[in-house]
Amino acid sequence: MGLMNTYNKEIEIVKGEGCYVTDKDGKKYLDLIGGIGTCTLGYNVHDEVYEQMKKIVNTSNLYKSPSQEKLAELICNISGYKHCFFSNSGTESVECALKLAKKHGGDKIIAMKNGFHGRTIGSLSVTGKDKIKKPFGKLLDGINFIDFGSLDGIKEADVLIMEPIQGEAGVIMPPDNYLEEVSKLCKENNTLLIFDEVQTGAGRTGKFFCFEHYGIKPDIVTIAKGVANGFPIGITLSNLDFEKGEHGTTYGGNDVSCVSAYHTIKKINSMLDEISSKGEYFMNGLKKLNVTNVRGKGLMIGFDMDVKCELEGILVNKIGGNIIRLLPPYVISYKEIDMALNIFKEAQ
Ligand code: PLP
Repeated sequence: MGLMNTYNKEIEIVKGEGCYVTDKDGKKYLDLIGGIGTCTLGYNVHDEVYEQMKKIVNTSNLYKSPSQEKLAELICNISGYKHCFFSNSGTESVECALKLAKKHGGDKIIAMKNGFHGRTIGSLSVTGKDKIKKPFGKLLDGINFIDFGSLDGIKEADVLIMEPIQGEAGVIMPPDNYLEEVSKLCKENNTLLIFDEVQTGAGRTGKFFCFEHYGIKPDIVTIAKGVANGFPIGITLSNLDFEKGEHGTTYGGNDVSCVSAYHTIKKINSMLDEISSKGEYFMNGLKKLNVTNVRGKGLMIGFDMDVKCELEGILVNKIGGNIIRLLPPYVISYKEIDMALNIFKEAQ
């Protein structure tokens, strides 16, 4: 009786403040995974969010909402895309992207091996990890998977969906010039390009969107995770649009998430250089330790390490055998980074 058996949970967290969480026994941890990249500004809530909660939480999409319109204007201005759709999660932002791409492009979709796009049937269909798809039988038809680094079949496809850096796979970086070549090939052959920036977006890599590092612009981009500093939101951006009634959601774009996203995005946009510098500092520190394959961009960091004893007092994400992924809050201080580096050093 109780929760479905989907996660292996060990620590019970009861409180969060800044970059720290506290468990039920009062033990404090420096959180280097930040709610899987959601708590970009740490575990504090903007005052404006409390104010919004007192006014109204969700108007639904039957009515106009000033908080939604304000956020739409901000994110369209920042991104240069004409339209945005607000949903509640990364997975839903991908569903919206896929529907938009199928409507305007077609059904022949290419995705990347080891890529991750979510757990709904649509997003799972384009996810390149057989293990998590296997229990669910037949998924969407017409999806071809290529290696992250290959250009095979892109010319013939209607749609290509990919992460610019593969996050769930262990922070796998694209080969040099790969994203530029993908974008060029897509443009030349009218293949709609979807970048899933659920993990890399919202400043995580030191630019608001990861694609900005490469001087390219996908046709559709998705962001979620840290956009509203812990409140659920997914955003799909594009110059393409739906007709009325073709897509929808009840909670998506609720007033509380929109207000949190608005203030979070404004803050993130003012600290992009800081994110890059802290990321470089963190990665340089790791390179001096006995760990291998330090990789990443900004504060999206992966490395390989045989952890010999407990990582005392920090939370990280361990993937597979020895891969460690870090997605710390952007407000982490240099002192806290040093503290984390010391803990990694002692655990070698
Ligand atoms: N896309 C990417 C690249 C992700 O990393 C994730 C989650 O980790 C998702 C989609 C799914 O997002 P959510 O768990 O918010 O539905």
